[in-house]
Amino acid sequence: MKELTHYIDGAHVKGASGRFSDVYNPATGEVQARVPLATAEELDRAVASAAEAQPKWAAVNPQKRARVLMEYIRLLHRDMDKLAEAISREHGKTLPDAKGDVQRGLEVIEFCIGAPHFLKGEYSVNASNGIDIYSMRQPLGVVAGITPFNFPAMIPLWKMGPAIAAGNSVIIKPSERDPSCPLMLAELWTEAGLPDGVCQVVNGDKESVDAILDNETIQAVGFVGSTPIAQYIYGRACSNGKRAQCFGGAKNHMIIMPDADLDQAADALVGSGYGAAGERCMAISVAVPVGDETADRLIEKLKPRIDSLKIGPYTSGDDVDYGPVITVEAKRRIEGLVESGIEQGAKLVIDGRDFKLQGYENGHFVGPHLFDHVTPDMDIYQQEIFGPVLSTLRAGSYEEALHLASSHEMGNGTSIFTRDGDTARDYADRVNVGMVGVNFPIPVPLSYYTFGGWKKSGFGDLNQYGPDAFRFYTKTKTVTSRWPSGIKEGGEFHFKTAD
Ligand code: NAD
Repeated sequence: MKELTHYIDGAHVKGASGRFSDVYNPATGEVQARVPLATAEELDRAVASAAEAQPKWAAVNPQKRARVLMEYIRLLHRDMDKLAEAISREHGKTLPDAKGDVQRGLEVIEFCIGAPHFLKGEYSVNASNGIDIYSMRQPLGVVAGITPFNFPAMIPLWKMGPAIAAGNSVIIKPSERDPSCPLMLAELWTEAGLPDGVCQVVNGDKESVDAILDNETIQAVGFVGSTPIAQYIYGRACSNGKRAQCFGGAKNHMIIMPDADLDQAADALVGSGYGAAGERCMAISVAVPVGDETADRLIEKLKPRIDSLKIGPYTSGDDVDYGPVITVEAKRRIEGLVESGIEQGAKLVIDGRDFKLQGYENGHFVGPHLFDHVTPDMDIYQQEIFGPVLSTLRAGSYEEALHLASSHEMGNGTSIFTRDGDTARDYADRVNVGMVGVNFPIPVPLSYYTFGGWKKSGFGDLNQYGPDAFRFYTKTKTVTSRWPSGIKEGGEFHFKTAD
């Protein structure tokens, strides 16, 4: 049995707690490794060495720091296949999808090469007689990222890139379900020339998370995961005086207008609803066709597409559409929600309950499900299912559809399919959701914009990556200066105004 490690001071370090969590191969259901779960003392030691390394790293000029990121990108490309395989082996997603996971993180590192630009301050010469005012952006010190299982490359990279480029040291506490890729990412930083201690990976569960939240040296916490944990971490981090940005779950609606290209909409729904077995925070889980005629036509177009989905392990080739879900518990939870949908009166149009894959009977595979006639009071509508289950909720009008997406407690992403530009503009403007797609199902913004959901999908006031990340990972210091030669009038005793 492979025993995984932590990554501290540029080296793999064995866990000392004696506590471990099993890491499964979701396709076979077998345990393939165990990951150590750090104690608070182990976490504190990693933070102490990160704190020692940080001032020296911050003293390296920003352009030289950016060059380490350039080399890091080269190494990510070099190791793309290895990283993707590690992801697929522990997460279960297909290899092309795993490469996308690495690629969307890599793009954030590319953006962070521009850090010297984002770290520039402001300058006002002669703001008042002989007085200059300037501001500078300084790193926070040691920061932490707590990441979920569903993107084991992309989300750690979203945390590492801007934090490191801005001159911080960063501690990543990855998901205990698929920790191998984050460990490999940390190793590659060392190879790229990042000084030891600037990027640490501490594996663990609630004990190490609580240690992060209570550690007085850690200045900021970035979290991505489920909503209840996001809210808990946000509260505890803030009350301990830390900066926090905590991103939670999702329930993403796609509105399908009567004038939409229904083939395009159906293709988009199948890809975004069932891709990665529905385990994406930007997956579309609710289809909202406007009008019964649109709904009937859409269901007819969805059925053959869903029936022909190929489900299998990542090892069976690139034509597999999606793989297993992460754990047996996740599979049972999804199956329980499907049963609740039936009991509460939704119509199960495609029933994936009997799905079995020969040779992989113990794998965590879930067949695709399609519900119609879902209503807002049902559990399958209110809860995030995080599985290959698409719910159809029929709306009587555009306003009703807009209201549904806007009033759901989650507000991560949404999209509208229509040929009418005016409706699309109105939707993008009025919907109470953080990221919007127009005839585009998974509107994850590119790295030079920012990523963040609203309502219970995001706690905190700055988004991930893009310019917001440099605001999050730096603090502003403002200097008001006057030089002795500028004092010509003797002492002044009134409060200075900019006259
Ligand atoms: P999770 O909340 O179970 O775990 C996330 C992290 O929190 C992990 O590192 C885990 O070890 C830690 N954690 C779990 N329970 C904890 C506890 N009680 N106390 C302290 N720490 C704890 O989430 P997950 O199952 O790994 O990921 C799936 C969830 O993440 C979904 O809800 C998905 O929508 C969400 N997600 C959101 C975004 C976004 O940007 N909004 C992106 C990806 C995933």
